[in-house]
Amino acid sequence: MIDLRSDTITRPTPAMLEAMFRAQVGDDVYEEDPTVRELENECARRFGMEAGLFCPSGTMTNQIAIKAHTQPMSEVVCEQTSHIYLWEVGGIAFHSGASVALLPGERGRLTAAQVAAAIRSENVHYPNTSLISLENTHNRGGGSCYSWQALEEIAELAKSKGIPLHLDGARIFNALVATGQRSEDYGQLFDSISICLSKGLGTPVGSVLVGTQEFVRKCKRIRKAMGGGWRQAGYLAAAGLYALENHVERLADDHRRARQLAEALEQAPYVEYVLPAETNLVIFRLREGLTEDQFLAHLGEFGVKASAFGPQMVRFVTHLDVDDAGIERVLEAIRSVPQYA
Ligand SMILES: *Cc1c(COP(=O)(O)O)cnc(C)c1O
Repeated sequence: MIDLRSDTITRPTPAMLEAMFRAQVGDDVYEEDPTVRELENECARRFGMEAGLFCPSGTMTNQIAIKAHTQPMSEVVCEQTSHIYLWEVGGIAFHSGASVALLPGERGRLTAAQVAAAIRSENVHYPNTSLISLENTHNRGGGSCYSWQALEEIAELAKSKGIPLHLDGARIFNALVATGQRSEDYGQLFDSISICLSKGLGTPVGSVLVGTQEFVRKCKRIRKAMGGGWRQAGYLAAAGLYALENHVERLADDHRRARQLAEALEQAPYVEYVLPAETNLVIFRLREGLTEDQFLAHLGEFGVKASAFGPQMVRFVTHLDVDDAGIERVLEAIRSVPQYA
């Protein structure tokens, strides 16, 4: 099976399992797990931050950060298709009692001018703007990357207004590899960053939230309240350390393979458009006459799985468990849709 549904479906490699097996562990609620400590410090160091907090999921790191930054009756500025709004079960309302100001981005990317216009003035009717949150790469935007300049402009605005800036970096390593931006520089712009280890990096479980010492201390209490204090998590942290060492540069292969798929789709007569494939996501729209279910059924005959992503929309995700031979099979499937072959 060639599974292009998501980069979360990867299994640990034998070498990663070996690293997990050898991990030194302890009870992390007692702060006695050396491998968790090492992973948190390594993530903080890489992103130019003071401290890190290892959590079970990217949803949890995002929601903890939002809770730590905001107050009830305040408002979070984010893009209208951002993961924190669209795919986290209304968690902003549930955990933080905050509302959202939703902005239409260009493939998920906001500009400083848009954000500036959404920041609330002082008025008894209004919620206070308590947080600005960006997503890089942007999932619904087809894995689009922010330019450094756009990030700097938004960060400058946030600082001048005294509003914290959070980054949902579920696929931040894809953005770094695609753009050549430096992870250390991100700490200069953002107050907190959520980093997923279980997407492109290929670990079985885990995300790390990075920020200042004080912020992470507060977040650790929130994590505990959510039931996220965990014990010998070092076995999972070891997978993260292994992935940081061995699975970052190879993301360029995923990006190359995504471009191959995007090019083939652009040639296909049944495809209306393909979003530019900047990283490992390929989102495209089928012309009327071929539904997403028919197309997915055709892929299935070649042993290929993908996700329907709305009416007529399909998403392919390349990752660690899809190699060049797998891509050849997908290309064959793309080129042989019966009505159009
Ligand atoms: C996957 C994802 C997350 C977090 O997902 P979990 O499944 O909770 O780890 C957050 N943001 C974006 C953009 C994502 O794609």
